[in-house]
Amino acid sequence: MDAVSRLWRGCAAVWSPARMWLSLVMGARFSTSLAHLGPPMTRDPGGRGVHWVFLGCPGVGKGTYASRLSQLLGVPHISTGDLVREELASSGPLAQQLAGIVNHGQLVSDEIIMSLLIKRLEHGATKAESGSILDGFPRTIRQAEILEGVTEIDLVINLKLREDALLAKCLGRRICSHCGGNYNVASVNIKGENGRPDFIMAPLLPPADCASKLVTRVDDTEEVVKERLQIYNEMSKPVEEFYRARGKLLEFDLPGGIPESWPKLLQALNLVDHDDKQSASA
Ligand code: AMP
Repeated sequence: MDAVSRLWRGCAAVWSPARMWLSLVMGARFSTSLAHLGPPMTRDPGGRGVHWVFLGCPGVGKGTYASRLSQLLGVPHISTGDLVREELASSGPLAQQLAGIVNHGQLVSDEIIMSLLIKRLEHGATKAESGSILDGFPRTIRQAEILEGVTEIDLVINLKLREDALLAKCLGRRICSHCGGNYNVASVNIKGENGRPDFIMAPLLPPADCASKLVTRVDDTEEVVKERLQIYNEMSKPVEEFYRARGKLLEFDLPGGIPESWPKLLQALNLVDHDDKQSASA
């Protein structure tokens, strides 16, 4: 048996139970085809919420838009980065091992990520959660294959932003240590060149209550962000192609900050009516 077959057999032994669990907690495979990427069904007749995925480089805003859509569509926003940070903040057995990986911008092993994700989904199952908007998962082809083996993803939104803006956004990102709110103190103003338009993104400042409680993520330093961008290009960019080949990828170039981008994203997702109805009933 060659090394690759041995490795594969080893992985299969690890992954079979994980797959079984995931399929139990994510619900049975579902057979909708979204090859046309037309108006998305936000809930099927059986009451199953959407199963969407957000892809995009570090700092692009996956968390912000995934969280907004999760509120709009009534499905949980599941960020594997948040799960990792929760584990880091705990005094659990994994915390020390994770710190060395995350603080250097590296990817956590598939095994650890799967176990955190399964734990989160099990918790959701006890609350009868249906559907999800995944953010930060899958990040490798292996993770995408595992996910594909257990549930049908309806739509994958690939958020895109120029790299110089990504760096500025990561360096300006702040989190309220009390409520967990995400803010950004960067004022991005990049002059257009070679036919590209100017790119302007206003800061997203915190309310007075959060202003004195802001912290910066340890992996949002210039050195680590550059490492994370490189890892994204090597390990996660192929995931875009994985979903493009399956006709599920919706490319979305962010035109600016939330005020410019949110309405355009709703338009691209055919959710403008949905948003209007929710605002009217609020
Ligand atoms: P994020 O908040 O998505 O930028 O994730 C923060 C960090 O958590 C990443 O830099 C990785 O170290 C780790 N992480 C989050 N999601 C994954 C994943 N799907 N696979 C491996 N590592 C992950």
